[in-house]
Amino acid sequence: MESQIQIRVRGRVQGVGFRPFVWREAVKLGLVGEVRNDREGVLILAAGKRAAALAGKISESPPPLSEVHAIEVSTADFQPTKEFRIVESGVHGADTACAPDAASCAECLLEVAGDGRRAGYEFTNCTNCGPRFTILKALPYDRATTTMADFAMCSACRAEYDDPTDRRFHAQPLACPECGPSLRIEPASPEPLTGAVNRLLCGQIVALQGLGGFHLACDATNAAAVQTLRDRKRRPAKPFALMATLPIIRQHAILSEDEAALLEGTDAPIVLLDAAVGTLPEAIAPGLDRLGWMLPYTPLHYLIVKGVGRPLVMTSGNLSDEPQVISVSEAKEKLGPIADSILWHDRGIARRLDDSVVLPTLKSSMVVRRARGLTPGTIDMPETLPDRQVVAYGGELKAAICLTKNRQAMLSHHLGDLDSALSFEEFQRTDRDLADLMEQVPELIAVDMHPDYRASQYGRDRARAEGLPCCEVQHHHAHMAAALGSVGWTDGTAVGVILDGLGYGSDGSIWGGEILVGNYASFERLVNLALAPLPGGDAANREPWRNALMRLDAAGVPDIADRLFSDAPRDALRAAVNAGINAPGSSSAGRLFDAIAACLRIVPDRQTYEGEAAMRLEALANRAAKSAGSYEMPCHSGVLDPTPMMCALVSDLERGVSKSTIARRCHNAIADSFADSARKVASEHGATTIALSGGCLQNRLLLKRLMERLSDFEICGPGPVPVNDGGLAFGQALVALAQSGEE
Ligand code: ZN
Ligand code: ZN
Ligand code: FE
Repeated sequence: MESQIQIRVRGRVQGVGFRPFVWREAVKLGLVGEVRNDREGVLILAAGKRAAALAGKISESPPPLSEVHAIEVSTADFQPTKEFRIVESGVHGADTACAPDAASCAECLLEVAGDGRRAGYEFTNCTNCGPRFTILKALPYDRATTTMADFAMCSACRAEYDDPTDRRFHAQPLACPECGPSLRIEPASPEPLTGAVNRLLCGQIVALQGLGGFHLACDATNAAAVQTLRDRKRRPAKPFALMATLPIIRQHAILSEDEAALLEGTDAPIVLLDAAVGTLPEAIAPGLDRLGWMLPYTPLHYLIVKGVGRPLVMTSGNLSDEPQVISVSEAKEKLGPIADSILWHDRGIARRLDDSVVLPTLKSSMVVRRARGLTPGTIDMPETLPDRQVVAYGGELKAAICLTKNRQAMLSHHLGDLDSALSFEEFQRTDRDLADLMEQVPELIAVDMHPDYRASQYGRDRARAEGLPCCEVQHHHAHMAAALGSVGWTDGTAVGVILDGLGYGSDGSIWGGEILVGNYASFERLVNLALAPLPGGDAANREPWRNALMRLDAAGVPDIADRLFSDAPRDALRAAVNAGINAPGSSSAGRLFDAIAACLRIVPDRQTYEGEAAMRLEALANRAAKSAGSYEMPCHSGVLDPTPMMCALVSDLERGVSKSTIARRCHNAIADSFADSARKVASEHGATTIALSGGCLQNRLLLKRLMERLSDFEICGPGPVPVNDGGLAFGQALVALAQSGEE
């Protein structure tokens, strides 16, 4: 029997080849009707005997880059056409407007490796892959509004673009050697790509233009080249990311099938993998046992990696603390002194996007840095929260902005640390940009309650200027809400175990090792790590020995501190602390890890990057046996006291117990004491859900131990929303919404 139906498809369904997919399936089923884009997604009218089967096809095998959130089928009454057609609508939806950039698909890579008209062409792409967000200058997403606008399609490309049966139908960035972008290299070389490959093979450093910015590349097997890059970039120890093909990665890393699948995702992130011992120079990631790997994700990268045949260092092309370089002129000016050559092309980068970073966990993975390939993606909001438009401005380090609309949250890409003026400019630009993209007009603003964060001041100023309510959210409450919201947790009471760096506390002290109980709207702090002064404020973040001195003094063993840090200005620091000068108290778990690392003398007096001490400590602890044992960290009236642990640590150190065993015992002690206290709090409050968040949970050893000890609870742990401050804005948005619903 003939039937007429309407199918509404919601989600990321525009700019991903959805309409031609529907067209092909409809034609195969012998249907007539139409498919179009509109503000809500894709709308299909279909008539024919097998019309009902179309919805099944859509849910079974949608296009690779699409993300279908809902398929709604209803009967429809319309005048059937003679054929099935794709309707040009000219209307573009808000949250469906542009897909993230996607790694080259297998079909395109075959063409590049083959001998057709795209043989060896560095800018090959199709509807299922290629640049998207990084070339978008304005909406709607159309060739004319991208940095491909200057390239007029040749007749062969035009024919593909217009043919609904072709893989390149309406692929906006489609190109070929006849009509598309091309490469240049400086110093000049007749074949830029071969020139770059040869220079890399000679141990030179090449700056190259990627999707979301420039990278600095060198041969990762060449220790001298890696060290030269470190020296020139003035980056003594912060780990470098690597790029190689999967077979080469397998020679240098230990990886499971799940981890290989993470590498091969269309988002092609940097995946942090356990390193095989001693296959690559130590200078790639000094003191660490995990390396960040990614697969080549554009034909340009693919051809270079194939040409070199060795793993490449592929690190952000920037000056320290500045955003990644995206323009050719800036590359020449800023990267010229670092690189021996610059390889670039004439397809401009409209948006700066770093590489995303993912850390595999026990059962899945956590996003450490949300950027290329993941943005502009959205996260479903918990159903119980009011459907209002909020903008939340996140924290100071690892800045990110979150906007909500239509029960979706758009958490921005990583914007860097806002103490850099250039990053703060980028932050402001992104704020305007995402509002345009989502067509969002906020009813409410959310900020961290810290008095001095730039992002908080910016949000408060905006709220004042526009007469909007401004919700001040406690830092660790936002971390907890982000963990709960990332899995759509709805209601009841949850316990939050937040192990973090620093965050402004409700009582004006600095928090960072807390057990909270509550929900999205409110919380109470029930347990915290015993306070220790942060002598010198910011200096205590950079210099781990300062935290060690305070914890050892508090443990009643100042003589040991004197011996361990004999060259440091200890007495001046103690005098300042006793006089209460610039030594705020803090319960930060991150600073406790720093103190332990300093006692074990595994970090320089001054960290060269954020998290260095903690990452080295984890790598050290990984070398110890699982049965290494633990220390005591008792809880008295809601305060977790690390004194017994510090005393046991130094006595083990004096007895010659291996540093890796001591590091492991400290990890176990901290995890066990927080887990035991969380269990107690949960049972007192009838909570069955435990949220794990805060930057320290990027420490996989700590996370694993906590999850094991709390395995009988429902754990809302690390996942798509970063547990570091990159996820704060999402949590702030949820808290603001929940509180607005209670007014
Ligand atoms: Zn492709
Ligand atoms: Zn062409
Ligand atoms: Fe934090």
